[in-house]
Parts: sequence; structure tokens; C-alpha cells
Amino acid sequence: MASERVVGGLTCAEVLAHLGDFLDGELAPEVLTQVRAHVAGCGACERFGGAYAAAVTALRATEREAALDAEQIASIVASAASAASAAKAG
Ligand SMILES: [Zn+2]
Repeated sequence: MASERVVGGLTCAEVLAHLGDFLDGELAPEVLTQVRAHVAGCGACERFGGAYAAAVTALRATEREAALDAEQIASIVASAASAASAAKAG
């Protein structure tokens, strides 16, 4: 991952920490505004967020009732990160 850029008042790590709630539509409006501002101004997060969202959507389609544990989240994040760096490199 890239270094900690602050865009829209959030670092990339903070955006990542909010992604789960973002995808659930549970972010507070002011945080949602910051996340959107960050993603709009940060190409890495824009790609990463898209990959993460796709992975979570696919996972939920098969495991709608199951809560994600930390290991599953780490695995999704790792695959999304490699997809993001592949997109960046390509
Ligand atoms: Zn970012």
C-alpha cells in the first residue's frame, strides 16, 4: 500500500477501516462525506475500494448470514490489495 496520504481529512488506513460500514450503508453522514472526498481524490483507494466492494459483494452473495471474522477480512483485503497494485502497475 502507498504511504499514508491524507485526502478529504482521512488517511487511506482510515478509509479502509470505514469500508465495512460504508458498504453496509451505516456510516455517519459526515464520515461518508469524508470517505467519498478521499476516494474521489485518491486513485489508489478508488481502485482498492472497488476491488474490496466486489469481493465483499461476492462473499455476501454466498454467505449472506455469516459474519466476517478478522481472518476472512484480512484475506479479502489482501486479494483486493493485490488487485489494486496490479491495476496500478498495469
Ligand atoms: Zn487513499
